[in-house]
Amino acid sequence: MTSSGFADLQLRPELLRALTDLGYEEPTPIQAEAIPPLLEGRDLLGQAATGTGKTAAFALPVLQRLAGERTDGRPAALVLVPTRELAMQVSQAFHRYARDLGARVVPIYGGQPIGRQLQALDRGVDVVVATPGRALDHISRGTLDLKAVQTVILDEADEMLDMGFAEDIEAILEETAEERQTVLFSATMPGRIDAIARRHLREPVRIQMGRAEPEPGAAPLVRQSAYVVARAHKPAALGRVLDVEAPTAAIVFCRTREEVDQLTETLNGRGQRAEALHGGMSQEQRDRVVNRLRDGRADLLVATDVAARGLDIDRLSHVVNYSLPAAPETYVHRIGRVGRAGREGTAITLAEPREHRMLKAVERTTGQRIGLQKVPTVADLRARRLELTRAALQESLLTDDLDRFRVVVETLTDEFDVMEVALAAVKLAHELNGGDLDDEQDIPESVLRPERERRDNTRPGGHGGRGGHTTRLFINSGRSNRIRPQDLVGAITGETRLSGRDIGAIEIADRFSLVEVPADAADEVITALRHASIRGRKVLARRDRDKDKENQNRRP
Ligand code: AMP
Repeated sequence: MTSSGFADLQLRPELLRALTDLGYEEPTPIQAEAIPPLLEGRDLLGQAATGTGKTAAFALPVLQRLAGERTDGRPAALVLVPTRELAMQVSQAFHRYARDLGARVVPIYGGQPIGRQLQALDRGVDVVVATPGRALDHISRGTLDLKAVQTVILDEADEMLDMGFAEDIEAILEETAEERQTVLFSATMPGRIDAIARRHLREPVRIQMGRAEPEPGAAPLVRQSAYVVARAHKPAALGRVLDVEAPTAAIVFCRTREEVDQLTETLNGRGQRAEALHGGMSQEQRDRVVNRLRDGRADLLVATDVAARGLDIDRLSHVVNYSLPAAPETYVHRIGRVGRAGREGTAITLAEPREHRMLKAVERTTGQRIGLQKVPTVADLRARRLELTRAALQESLLTDDLDRFRVVVETLTDEFDVMEVALAAVKLAHELNGGDLDDEQDIPESVLRPERERRDNTRPGGHGGRGGHTTRLFINSGRSNRIRPQDLVGAITGETRLSGRDIGAIEIADRFSLVEVPADAADEVITALRHASIRGRKVLARRDRDKDKENQNRRP
């Protein structure tokens, strides 16, 4: 199998090669819909959230057109994004797709020393990915010339408006030529977005993603739950969830071939019998793998959507979305692999904190709620493993002939108590059974974070709203004190002038928690919490040391 889906879109061989190497097997729905009109130069208004593949949907046409006509070093495309985080992410995506084209892509955002950006712009650049504030800075310094820009992309436009960038965007568009192509992506379509679209887009193609109505009976009998986990902790979290769920057989879905290969390796490293299945393998290899799962020589299949299409395996008890799919319909296809013919199945999703929209879209499409679960803690796992050892011993007591070991116990009881001997034997059995060896690290608890609560740490002053720096606070109370994110939000909003929207990321570890608050309110929060108790316990808050150092370095 090749990236034929992308070849149908008439993309250049350099781009197709990069996509194949990234392990993209076919375009996501938004890519299939958006790429052809964008290649024709049409304007486009797209409603799409993070996770739909929208970045490639606009980046690939830009790169395709770029390769045709090189400019004089002035940018041919400008992408405006709300946050520094997104600026880096989008420019990395461009770099990956442009690997064989040699396009020059520069991210420009506040908080980074301006000198480095000046040099990069000076050397010549094809694509600029910028936050509006910093883009405007450069324009007023005369260091960013937008007269040659052919395509402007407004990414996460609703978010930019929420952050008070409306005027900046207008001012930036003023600097570009009228006959440019304009593309606007937004997760939501409030009236203000419509107004911008009417003013700046010409007869745009309209695309809407993730709005499918539930098909009656589309979702089978499947227990669905999700775990919210930061990307870095996903492999460990998956291992734990699999330990506790103990599936008879499962398919673990990934987005790309690369992800499949990496995850398969990780799972096997942890002693799980996992097999990879993706479009980069020959038909014969794939048949072999599927047969191994079918007859029980393997329990876990790590697969891409394309490769696992149409698989029907009776033993399958679980479907795991290691990565959420780009479209809710794909989710429905995935979980349709279990729960067939009235059997019960389980679908488990590992969602990243910023993927709350996709999770909601999936719930709308299936018409079913997805319960959020807590990743098993180290204590949960220990309890579970001890239980397994206990069960193994019980079985041995009931079924094995143990007489030839009697002499060992008798000899030892000359010196020790029978209970002590038993304890030592259990310890050895437990260790042979896997014990508590790996995985002793705590996985911080994450919560779904609505995208509009994300803040740009780097916005220069004077743009309105509660922008500016955030400070991370350390609180000496965590999961072992039964602290939940809502307890922290409640305590802070109850005692200070902050509202829930002001509070950033929250992480809850076993013995402590970390909370991001606006830097200028940090002292207030620390003082207020001195007088508060959370879950019946006095707490102590202070600035998290590492983060403070980082913030100082970042200050322009
Ligand atoms: P985005 O919605 O643009 O933030 O993309 C979400 C994720 O999907 C990114 O990690 C992309 O690398 C990945 N992705 C985008 N297009 C595809 C595709 N056609 N196949 C597999 N993964 C993709």
